[in-house]
Amino acid sequence: MESAYFQPGQITVRGSFRYVDRNNADRPARFVRVLLYDDDANSDDDLLGQTTTDQDGVFQFAALPNQDNDEPGSTLDIYVIWVAEFNDSAATQRRVADLNGASHRWQSETRRNVPNGVVAFNGYRPTANLPAMWIFQDLRRSWEYVRNSVNIDPGSVTARWENNVDCWLICASYFYGGVGGPYIFISRRHQISSDVVVHEAAHHYLYNRANWWVLDAGCFNHEIFLEVNSETCAWSEGWADFLPLPVNNDACFDWREGPCSGIPDQHHYNLETHSRNDNPAAFPWGDRVEGRIAGALYDLFDNDNEGFDSAAFGFGPIAAIVLDNQPEDRFFTFWQRWRVAYENRRHHALRALHQNTIDYNTPPRFDPLLPDRVALRGVAWPRALDLWSYAVDDDSPDSELSFQIMAVSDNRCGVTLTENRWINLAPQANRLGVCDVTVRASDTIAIVDNVFRVMVAPILAHTYMPAIIKPNVTASGSH
Ligand SMILES: [Zn+2]
Repeated sequence: MESAYFQPGQITVRGSFRYVDRNNADRPARFVRVLLYDDDANSDDDLLGQTTTDQDGVFQFAALPNQDNDEPGSTLDIYVIWVAEFNDSAATQRRVADLNGASHRWQSETRRNVPNGVVAFNGYRPTANLPAMWIFQDLRRSWEYVRNSVNIDPGSVTARWENNVDCWLICASYFYGGVGGPYIFISRRHQISSDVVVHEAAHHYLYNRANWWVLDAGCFNHEIFLEVNSETCAWSEGWADFLPLPVNNDACFDWREGPCSGIPDQHHYNLETHSRNDNPAAFPWGDRVEGRIAGALYDLFDNDNEGFDSAAFGFGPIAAIVLDNQPEDRFFTFWQRWRVAYENRRHHALRALHQNTIDYNTPPRFDPLLPDRVALRGVAWPRALDLWSYAVDDDSPDSELSFQIMAVSDNRCGVTLTENRWINLAPQANRLGVCDVTVRASDTIAIVDNVFRVMVAPILAHTYMPAIIKPNVTASGSH
């Protein structure tokens, strides 16, 4: 290859394309289509070659004969065009287009009669229509996040954006899957927010993967916390509010450049600080509020646990449900699928939902009820009851329930609880009669109480003892 670059009569065009991001940082313009043209005065310009920038924004075209077909004996007059268009995979194209549907493009100056050898176009940057590049790079980052973390190709996205346009059909940013679609529209008001771009892409992904989107006028002008919507709208928006958080790696949904910039609950919503401590009059609760669904998904996902949140499951289990080809029509449907798919992840998942004011928990119960016990005066009976044999919870294993002795009517029965499991009896030697014991089981969200009775009997004959004091021990400790 090396020798080909400098072969007489050939040129090799290469260079780099970069852009200034929303925070004024210089970045490589990754994965952009690049076109090479010969400028012809008397006919249409000739397309000489196509390539793409790599992850460093670098590109290089195959070597070309340096011969201008329009002007025999003269060398090429070349320029480069960078296009906001890329095939992220064999099946997936990503682009940012204007409102006529033409992909945004940026063009270099023309270099006339270039000499043989390397022709470098280094360090070019978009000046006009810069937000189109921001959006284009958001879409790549979003696609990469999903593809790299769960090996799911979320599919194509076309974004529509045009300089100084706030409203197109409606005055919002949105996903549209009807006739003429699918596409996302990004309003000028939101071009500063990567989270809005990824939000709209998240709608597009559901459309791509499960052929599902919501055409609901009441759902277009939604607010993260300020409204109670239909369950369907809240689910659609809650998922779309969630995805930008892992993609952009912070806990805030930002209407500005972020992360978490500006005034809380105005320029951003921090989904970690919103919780069941919120006053419902100011910040409504439940699974018809999109911010609650986004917060619940985020607490299922993230490793920073606060309050009831003890889940840290990552993106995989969420994506496996949401981004398969079976749509969910509301968050409760997502939860039902979670229960079936991840039996050993229900307990902590319910706590993550509870932290975000969504209560799908069912309380534990005693089934069968705790039995009464006959103990012998002055004879200790360790492990007289195994609470794990009686307490049941639909979503929490016995080991994740917590037990407490709430009351004993007479402490001379010597009732104790050990290892969050065993009821032990040690009736005093001078004690006969009954003690009523109230035991509480908690799944850490809800509780149930049950009372059983200890009857302390005299020892009538030692021959009774083996039958009466036989401890009720189950095959220990393997729940
Ligand atoms: Zn939305």
